[in-house]
Amino acid sequence: MQKKINVTCSSMPDFFEYCEEIKDIWDSRWLTNMGPKHTKLQTELATYLNVPNVTLYTNGHLALEYALELFQFPRGSEVITTPFTFVSTTNSIVRCGLEPVFCDINPVDYTLDANKLESLISDKTVAIMPVHVYGNVCNVEKIEEIAAKYSLKVIYDAAHAFGVTYKGKSVAQFGDLSMFSFHATKVFNTIEGGALCYHNSSYTQQLNDRKNFGIHGQDKVEYIGGNAKMNEFQAAMGLCNLRYIDAEIAKRKAAVLCYMDRLKDTDGLQLNPVQDGVISNYAYFPVVFDAQYFGASRDEIKDVLAEHGIVARKYFYPLTNSIDCFHGKYIPQETTPEALRISNSVLTLPLYADIPIDIVNRICDIILSCKK
Ligand SMILES: *Cc1c(COP(=O)(O)O)cnc(C)c1O
Repeated sequence: MQKKINVTCSSMPDFFEYCEEIKDIWDSRWLTNMGPKHTKLQTELATYLNVPNVTLYTNGHLALEYALELFQFPRGSEVITTPFTFVSTTNSIVRCGLEPVFCDINPVDYTLDANKLESLISDKTVAIMPVHVYGNVCNVEKIEEIAAKYSLKVIYDAAHAFGVTYKGKSVAQFGDLSMFSFHATKVFNTIEGGALCYHNSSYTQQLNDRKNFGIHGQDKVEYIGGNAKMNEFQAAMGLCNLRYIDAEIAKRKAAVLCYMDRLKDTDGLQLNPVQDGVISNYAYFPVVFDAQYFGASRDEIKDVLAEHGIVARKYFYPLTNSIDCFHGKYIPQETTPEALRISNSVLTLPLYADIPIDIVNRICDIILSCKK
């Protein structure tokens, strides 16, 4: 029985390197609450991501919620976002008592279609939450222009975009805040983890207080905060993984170039080339199957791969404006037809730093053998 090939495989440092990194925790007995490893990782990430401020969280989802909470928007205020994302993006908005307003995506890089943004703005709109989906950079110029015109906050879900640059600028520099996820499956991981990156240093104190129950100093509880602190073992994993991040991205790139080379110029397949001006992190390899031209549908390809022990995933299906918990409140057919079309035909192929090139070739052989 051949080993199953999963859609992803977590990057991990050498076992003994991690042991070495956590060793002094047994001396200090400081396991969490902004310890020395937490502080060190924060500083190293600010350098790597080239942003003045980084606040760490126990996961990326809570980082999104705390970003929204920072502005204390009135309940029921509207946040314009994309339905073509992981459910976390939309859930963060709803869980903060806000109303998601879904903007369609552009069918080329699958990010929020900024040309459709302005018509969705109402007098209840307070913010935009776009997603750099698959690590593709949103139309940051247009989004910034519209946000400035209507005084809206911009919070980027940059969960997929760790290390990406656009026109020489770190993707972490756009918007009021950007959220990165350091979940095990992401390009850079701290087991579970996340961060907010931002220019405005006046956010720091409040973000730090709110993730620690709202406690400010010894005897003062300033905010109705929660608990979203990153612990020292997570930070230690981050410190180790950060040493190898550029090499890990280079290995992903080699796998992507192989996929690209094998699948390009195939009728009925839409690939995800690196955008102009972007240095990619090669986070995902999505392929959109046009069944009419390719001769097999996304679901058929997924099943054939599964028969060969290869797990590809329908990222992102279903759209977050058609998930069960909203009970048909939003209508993707009418409001986000491009997102609906892509969601119904996209398949994300296995991609991780250590994927062997012969496996990539085997996956391509299987897919191309389905072409009619
Ligand atoms: C992973 C992810 C999140 C959530 O991050 P966690 O660290 O898993 O909480 C949010 N948005 C997107 C687009 C993601 O892929």
